[in-house]
Amino acid sequence: MIKEKKPETALEYIKVSAEYLCKNNIKDARLNAELLLCDVLKCGRMDLYLNFDKPLTKDEVNLFRTFLKRRQSHEPIQYITGKAYFFGYEFKVKRGILIPRPETEILVEKVIQDILQTGRKDVSIFEIGSGSGCISISIIAELIKENVHADIVSIDISDEALNLCEENSKRILQGNNSVRFMKTDIFRLENLPGKFDYIVSNPPYISSSDYLKLEPEVRQYEPEEALTDGNDGLSFFRRIFGIVSKDKFKGKVFCEIGFMQKDSICNLLNETGFLDYIFYKDYAGIDRILEVRI
Ligand code: GLN
Repeated sequence: MIKEKKPETALEYIKVSAEYLCKNNIKDARLNAELLLCDVLKCGRMDLYLNFDKPLTKDEVNLFRTFLKRRQSHEPIQYITGKAYFFGYEFKVKRGILIPRPETEILVEKVIQDILQTGRKDVSIFEIGSGSGCISISIIAELIKENVHADIVSIDISDEALNLCEENSKRILQGNNSVRFMKTDIFRLENLPGKFDYIVSNPPYISSSDYLKLEPEVRQYEPEEALTDGNDGLSFFRRIFGIVSKDKFKGKVFCEIGFMQKDSICNLLNETGFLDYIFYKDYAGIDRILEVRI
């Protein structure tokens, strides 16, 4: 009997672990194996390729094994490595906080484009649902490059999220921190906490029935309250449009919206008397970003 050779080098470990993940129905198994190993070895993918022949130490093998086990049970890779990339920045993430999504980058892009188009050098923004802080922090970081100053108030109900936001903000914005992260429940907020030019949000817009249809990877690991309103998926939009209308807000509202929500959101907007709006599609051709001029 020929005994199978134990893997030794980085490349050998990648091959066996990609097979293992693939057998367990993990999509992009090879990429996942490489990214997890990069994290263990604290190197980029290019360095990994350059060091394919390098044998792994015992500690590295042990850590890699625990990472693979977690990934095999469908834990998102971002929670395992503790980081996610958004708009070119590295955000710390952890269980309990929504992993930033690529679609949300379109929201950030639209807000930034709009601000730059106005030519203004100072702008104030109110964000609802900070999460990892990815939206507010990316907006500020990008605007700094254009010599535009943004003052942002960003609210969330989760202490855990707000702590992580502070951490991400310190690391990414360094000295240039002009985001105020505040613990506030939008449903208890009477008035807007200041005068703002923009309102931005990627709210929990998944309905309770669609929530049950989400991939187990998302449902088991990501925070329910960041994904669904536990209702028809429109509660946050109703609330945001309601406050905006009551407070006589003048400016623009940008929101990320869910699959097939365009028509119901149009109805809500029309009922509230907001008639100047436009939707932008995401990379899959789905109406995803709402811009309202008020
Ligand atoms: N603003 C964060 C994000 O877009 C969190 C959003 C949320 O928790 N619904 O990732």
